[in-house]
Amino acid sequence: MTERPTRVVTDSMIGLDMPDIAVWSERVTVVLGQNPGPFTGPGTNTYLIGTGARPLLLDTGQGVPQYLPLLERGLFETRGGEAPEQIVLTHGHADHIGGVAGIRARFGSMPVAKKPWDKLDGDLDVVPVDEGAEIRTDGATLQALWTPGHAWDHLCWYMPEERALFTGDVVLGAGTTVIPPDGDLADYLNSLRRLLELDVAVIYPAHGPAIHTPREKIESYLAHRALRDQQILDGLGNGPQDVATLVRRIYVDVPEFLHAAAAMSVNAHLRKLEREGVVARDGEKWELRK
Ligand SMILES: [Zn+2]
Repeated sequence: MTERPTRVVTDSMIGLDMPDIAVWSERVTVVLGQNPGPFTGPGTNTYLIGTGARPLLLDTGQGVPQYLPLLERGLFETRGGEAPEQIVLTHGHADHIGGVAGIRARFGSMPVAKKPWDKLDGDLDVVPVDEGAEIRTDGATLQALWTPGHAWDHLCWYMPEERALFTGDVVLGAGTTVIPPDGDLADYLNSLRRLLELDVAVIYPAHGPAIHTPREKIESYLAHRALRDQQILDGLGNGPQDVATLVRRIYVDVPEFLHAAAAMSVNAHLRKLEREGVVARDGEKWELRK
């Protein structure tokens, strides 16, 4: 019997160090959201985009007070500016949308462009944008691509001037994306396949470092998910099992504190396999369909 690899994506967010402010290109400065954690790694990357003194701000972090002086410094030192022109969001999760109020309080009111989703937007006034939308600023254009799966409202943003893709949480600088209970793994895989069709030189993710091998990265994500499917089916080949048992079986090399996140992932796979008619649920346990 041949050995199957147990992991395709072998890097991890744990212990990853990122600078507070860094210039990644002529058009892109990254400012770290100051919100490290098990799901955010070193924290959320927020991006100042454009060559002018009023750049766009892509994503806003979680609303951590220490972030605001860093954003101000990043604006001034790397773009010669004092305030962003407007905010653009990849999606409505708290570590992306949470900084909006603080930024408006400090830099003045500004529009927030986002694909609307009542579930996450709360009472935030957004300028609705969707697939195909284009946002321009000095020296840069952002084009919206609807990429649901991690979150239904998720937009990736393509910047043709650098053939750069801001992937939000769809592709990360290290590790893999979480598919939360209201996410959809089948949608997510379709979103990844769609990104593969673009002409991309660099990925600027919402967490972790820039990715200069975009195709390899996206293909490794797809392979990783296919492997997880297979591991789950192999596990269930031994008889009906609950999610915790499957997690212990599959995530042998993952520390225990990440098992809750792993269970979320296994659940996302099981929901997809159930819809494909391959597995069925019996109470707490899952089994192969005969
Ligand atoms: Zn997210």
